Amino acid sequence: MEKSWSNRKGEEPEGVSLYNLDQWKSFKAIVEAMAAMDERERLGLQEKCRPYLCFREELDLFHKGHVEAHCTGACYEKGVSACCGFESIFTFFADQVVNVLFSSPEELAFLLATLRKPNTTRRCVYLGPAGCLWKVRPISCAMFFCDDVKQNFLQADPVLEREWKEMQREEKAFTWPDRQVLFDDLEKCFLARSVDSPFMYFHKSPGLLRVKAQARKSQAEKGEPFAEVTSRSTAK
Ligand code: SF4
Ligand code: SF4
Repeated sequence: MEKSWSNRKGEEPEGVSLYNLDQWKSFKAIVEAMAAMDERERLGLQEKCRPYLCFREELDLFHKGHVEAHCTGACYEKGVSACCGFESIFTFFADQVVNVLFSSPEELAFLLATLRKPNTTRRCVYLGPAGCLWKVRPISCAMFFCDDVKQNFLQADPVLEREWKEMQREEKAFTWPDRQVLFDDLEKCFLARSVDSPFMYFHKSPGLLRVKAQARKSQAEKGEPFAEVTSRSTAK
């Protein structure tokens, strides 16, 4: 890679928050690394993400079927959404990779241009006039429900509550590194291409590193290999 995390002087956005700057640098590094890949590598990465996208479609259907009508009346129609009301939302590096993989060049150009401008809205910088600018929203956003929805919908109906718990379990199969998971693998793939980012929590967060180390130790003690999730069926 010609460009590392710190080697972007001269092209970085100016007068923006550190959050915008870090998000821009991380997205930009991914876009450039992908531009340097050949078609086969890019398609291979998309293929690797398919089971996750199936899960995300299922999650969207869950939201549409059970809470969207409530959210529309409570928030969307009033032009407010507590979900997108924070200036700095949590993102994993892998969230960004998935988004770049499945966005059009125009969508990415708009997203990067937005990060170059100071956020004066006091809401999430990614909240555009037509909703979220991400093609595949960060997992922390997709899995978020406010207390109102949790108490009055998800916990009020045992069937729904079971379904929601199953969604949470499936999410972990991609994001919780007590086994080999997609979000960790995507970081590895870009680290191998000399891309660095502060959002690579699977390689930088002491908590997640501890989970990985403990899982490897206990599986080694049982003589089992570190399990890999390769398809939707094994994710369950
Ligand atoms: S989850 Fe809660 S805060 Fe978010 S849009 Fe729905 S009702 Fe509003
Ligand atoms: S990234 Fe998108 S979904 Fe998440 S808080 Fe921002 S605008 Fe809302």
